[in-house]
Amino acid sequence: MLQSRFVTASIIAALLTLGACASTTQSGEVGVQRKQFLLVSSQQAEAGAAQFYAQEMQKYSSKRALNTDPQQTARVREIASRLIDQAGAFRPDTRRWKWEVNVITSKELNAYCAAGGKMAVYSGLIDSLRLTDDEIAAVMGHEIAHALREHTREAMSESLAQQVGVSVVASLAGLGQGGTNLLANATHVAIGLPFSRQKEREADEIGIELMARAGYDPHSALSVWRKMMANGGGRPPEFLSTHPDPANRIRDIEAHLPRVMPLYEATKKTSKK
Ligand SMILES: [Zn+2]
Repeated sequence: MLQSRFVTASIIAALLTLGACASTTQSGEVGVQRKQFLLVSSQQAEAGAAQFYAQEMQKYSSKRALNTDPQQTARVREIASRLIDQAGAFRPDTRRWKWEVNVITSKELNAYCAAGGKMAVYSGLIDSLRLTDDEIAAVMGHEIAHALREHTREAMSESLAQQVGVSVVASLAGLGQGGTNLLANATHVAIGLPFSRQKEREADEIGIELMARAGYDPHSALSVWRKMMANGGGRPPEFLSTHPDPANRIRDIEAHLPRVMPLYEATKKTSKK
């Protein structure tokens, strides 16, 4: 008994060491370099996201609510592609990601970028808040940042460790059916939960740097925020989630603007030539 406890403790220690020593991105000008708890692999997180995304797109497609406005779809895809071009500043491996960008026709104010670059923007967000291109870039930059930081993978890891205990996670390496079910459950829990405030702050910081590098004014991250807060009512979009004190978040974005404005100015100068 004592011995098995010792073994379990060793496995936990080993996993925590492995898990705690990784950061999914380079730190960028904004300096995001928190070490992350990652028990679940990128492949497992991406497989979960791809399955979730395919089901969602299928659902909206069968309701004839997918990319129904060609002009709006083209607009969103153009902004996304400029941001995606800059993702390499944080993670060179994203050039191999199979990015997908679709617009869902819905009154809901929502947008997300799931693991591996599977993005959706809801038309309600753009239409009801009358978002400018720069503001759309602010929302998408924020969502892309969640994917670059692999926040869902981290949330899956946390959820898995909470559900079954770290010793069981060790035996998932072989991934029998039981392991697959547990992972599926962890994926489900992780996708349904809002991100922590710390993850949201990272997404804000990386998001404004992506915008700046792509030539979108990072100040729009503030204006889109204010629009969303003024809108009130209903379920808050992901962009507004987990924030008991929005003023803190605005202050944090403002504090990071001076670091990214030179990137924005440089991009503007080059694109004018
Ligand atoms: Zn977020």
